[in-house]
Amino acid sequence: MSESLSRRQVFRILAQARFLLALPVAQALLSAIAPADAATSTVRPEGEDMNLDDGTDSIDPYRLPRHIIPHRYDLRLEPDLDRATFAGRETISLMITQATSVILLNAVDLTISSVMLEGSSSTRQNATIELNDSTQRCHLTFSHPIAPGEWKLHLAFRGTLNDQLRGFYRSTYRDSAGVTHTMAATQFEATDARRAFPCWDEPDFKAVFATTLVIDPRLTAVSNTAVASESIEAGKKVVRFADSIKMSTYLAAFIVGEIEATPPVPVGKTPLRLWTIPGKQPLTSFGHEIAVASLKFFEEYYGIPYPGDKLDLLAIPDFASGAMENLGAITFRETALLVDRQRATHGELERVADVVAHENAHMWFGDLVTMSWWNGLWLNEAFATFMEMLAVDAWKPEWKRWDAFGTSRAAAFAVDGLHSTRPIEYSVQAPKDAEAMFDVLTYEKGASVLRMLEQHIGPIVFRDGVRDYLHAHAYGNADTNDLWVSLGKIAKQPVPELMDSWIFQPGYPLITAEINQLGRLVLSQQRFTYLNPSPRTPHP
Ligand SMILES: [Zn+2]
Repeated sequence: MSESLSRRQVFRILAQARFLLALPVAQALLSAIAPADAATSTVRPEGEDMNLDDGTDSIDPYRLPRHIIPHRYDLRLEPDLDRATFAGRETISLMITQATSVILLNAVDLTISSVMLEGSSSTRQNATIELNDSTQRCHLTFSHPIAPGEWKLHLAFRGTLNDQLRGFYRSTYRDSAGVTHTMAATQFEATDARRAFPCWDEPDFKAVFATTLVIDPRLTAVSNTAVASESIEAGKKVVRFADSIKMSTYLAAFIVGEIEATPPVPVGKTPLRLWTIPGKQPLTSFGHEIAVASLKFFEEYYGIPYPGDKLDLLAIPDFASGAMENLGAITFRETALLVDRQRATHGELERVADVVAHENAHMWFGDLVTMSWWNGLWLNEAFATFMEMLAVDAWKPEWKRWDAFGTSRAAAFAVDGLHSTRPIEYSVQAPKDAEAMFDVLTYEKGASVLRMLEQHIGPIVFRDGVRDYLHAHAYGNADTNDLWVSLGKIAKQPVPELMDSWIFQPGYPLITAEINQLGRLVLSQQRFTYLNPSPRTPHP
């Protein structure tokens, strides 16, 4: 996801009032000075690997049991934009590894009307349905135990196209004649896919999505993959999309409305388009240019072809954040994608370039390889911010993007010098705990620390470490430490030990260099704070 425009602008303004502080010095001394304090370790929520057979909520309210693994969603959604409702049917293919009579999955603000479990030998079982609003879970209780093996769970449900800019929501806008139009769009990160369809709504339950959208024939539908077929059935347009790669639920996307696309431009094997509401196509040329340039840049940098079968970038009139990296169907706030390049300020152009490059960077780092749990959100965002700088700098070297990033880093320093700052990564049990990570310490400090590491071990070594990490975890999930391990392996340096102090300690060091009475150079470091500085740790 990308930060909202207003927040980033505020930090830019803040940053311009500050001097750059000690990071360059600290960078030079990285390998010479030991961390002042021992690093803390990430605490995983208990029950991550639990193997329940009763499916109760009591053990971990935030992590679903691991003995039922979904691997495919055949999903059919029929939104009614006039009534602001949708009807859904889905078949979830499951592997059950332990006999159970309860299936637990996530759902909220949905009415589930029918459930049927079908085994490989056509055995069928119905279940009682119980929805718990506080845990956002659906309990399906079966009268007979379900044996281990492959099963298909069939569900029918209904929901509301809400006005909350999350889940499956409606967005309205007025055209130049003052007529109001409605479209439907989705925003699922972090845990709102469960508002659109019952699912295992955790990032490490990756599955293939085969989506069908049934819509008014006047409208157009976009999802994560290319359209496989389109037909008219009972007066409705039935749009079937190709199978996705294995991906997390929070990356699924459905957009339905009167929308128009730029002609598809092939970037390697990937057709790329920008979508707008009618009348805004003239504002797409700048965003299109950076979208093409950054997609090429990342294929080269990561050394892996773009993981989807097409790439659509969609400007949505009502959108909560700056943009969202849904695989193959990136959604944007209009001002983060569309710009009049003749009239725009440099800041407006830079903002569009940054956000487009940021979201494209996520197609690999975030979508192809995904954090295991939400404590890894900072790395997802810090890395995409770092990569957005690299890509924009390569595209427009005359912008000196890394120089300008110094003001963003200073904004992070401004917050990080407070006693109330936080470490970049912290333990996350409830997904909502991670919401506090969408801030300057994740995006700007996180990206600064990655830039420092890249400069320390060298850009080519860093790139090769990133490639190693992506190859090792493609289509799967990984933790922060997995990236350090890959970088350390390629760099032949103790990167995990080096980075832990930066990631798990709050604040940043202020380095002092002095010549003592014996004529020796003494380096000391202390945590920088605006008030009551801590004692220095000398390193003669
Ligand atoms: Zn992001």
